[in-house]
Amino acid sequence: MGKGKRLRNRRQSAPMIDADYPFVVDEQTAINLGREGLAELALHLWPKDCQTCGWDLGQTRPTVHVNDLITFASASLHHARCQPPGWTTTPVLSSRPLLSYATQSFLLPLKEDGKRNDRPVILVNPSLEQVLLSSHDGHWTVNTVPFYREVGLRSPGHDFVFDAPIPDIVAILDGDELTVTLDDTGQTWSGGCTSLTSQRVRELGGIILAISTAADPPQMQAAEQFLALMQSGQVAMGWVALAGTEALRPLQEVAAPSSLSVYLLHWGTHHATVGELLATTDRSLPIAQAQAWALSQINLPEDRLLPWDQPSGDLNAWYILDAISVQHYLLRRYTDAWKLIKVLARIDGRGPADETEAQDWATRAVRIHGNSRIISWVPGPSTEPGFTTLHGSGVPR
Ligand SMILES: [Zn+2]
Repeated sequence: MGKGKRLRNRRQSAPMIDADYPFVVDEQTAINLGREGLAELALHLWPKDCQTCGWDLGQTRPTVHVNDLITFASASLHHARCQPPGWTTTPVLSSRPLLSYATQSFLLPLKEDGKRNDRPVILVNPSLEQVLLSSHDGHWTVNTVPFYREVGLRSPGHDFVFDAPIPDIVAILDGDELTVTLDDTGQTWSGGCTSLTSQRVRELGGIILAISTAADPPQMQAAEQFLALMQSGQVAMGWVALAGTEALRPLQEVAAPSSLSVYLLHWGTHHATVGELLATTDRSLPIAQAQAWALSQINLPEDRLLPWDQPSGDLNAWYILDAISVQHYLLRRYTDAWKLIKVLARIDGRGPADETEAQDWATRAVRIHGNSRIISWVPGPSTEPGFTTLHGSGVPR
């Protein structure tokens, strides 16, 4: 095929830019997303506030600006005067504070064993004016459902199970005001519900959280609309336990004491580590003996392990790396003992700003990399002035 023909074909298959969609895109976006991609975008973007200035988008056709970060991208809506349509690959600051969300709570009429068993639902659109896209083989698709599946939500008709609470998402009911918080993403959404719905939430000790960017929740008028959304595959769902009613949870995990693990969070101004405590020994052991003891505890063939190394600025610590699993082990002399730690996460260069930030970071790292939930952090013996050490007890998620 000659060059001229290829270009012509490409232009022919490029979508109409203005007329077909409720927004304006530039040619690059039109080419990158194609007709199908733009149609999908039109289903997922809701013009409320401009993501540049924060003011109402009004009735004029907004522009779409795509920020392409190679494997994923965000597409957001703007006033034409604030942001011309475009596709850029330079990272811009998150527009999150300007994003609007919308919720609606209702009772989903369901039957169980021939009897009515209505279930309360809170439908959330977490970002009306912005949607995340992910790229697979050069093909961009909306990433909302995969994103929320990562934090534990499920797809109706596939793996969604009623009554199995999703860990680390909690609902709080204050009168008829319902608030849902996702620990993993830090997102929180509130909305009013009818007293009938809130009564059912209290009876059942939870609510179905349904997240979708393909709906504007206040526009949901009938259960059929929601069922259609469920069937479209454009919603992620999970059963969220109501705070304070944990005893009602039918499938609450109870951790056996033997499955408790201890995690150590150690942080200073330039450095932070969090990891699982594997073993401790007498702190009077000389370094060489402590290292030999640590190797016997790690119990891996020595040719898998890279030589001991010291992190800069921490004279009491030595690292060793398993070259196969890329797992770091840390041997550190604390004021009470030598401790061997399987590292889950570390920060070098700039430590957490304060203890709250350190704890949040560590709790998240333990959850994601250690698959455990921290019950509490308590101060423990440390190494030297300038460093703080906290001990956390964790149970499997
Ligand atoms: Zn604007």
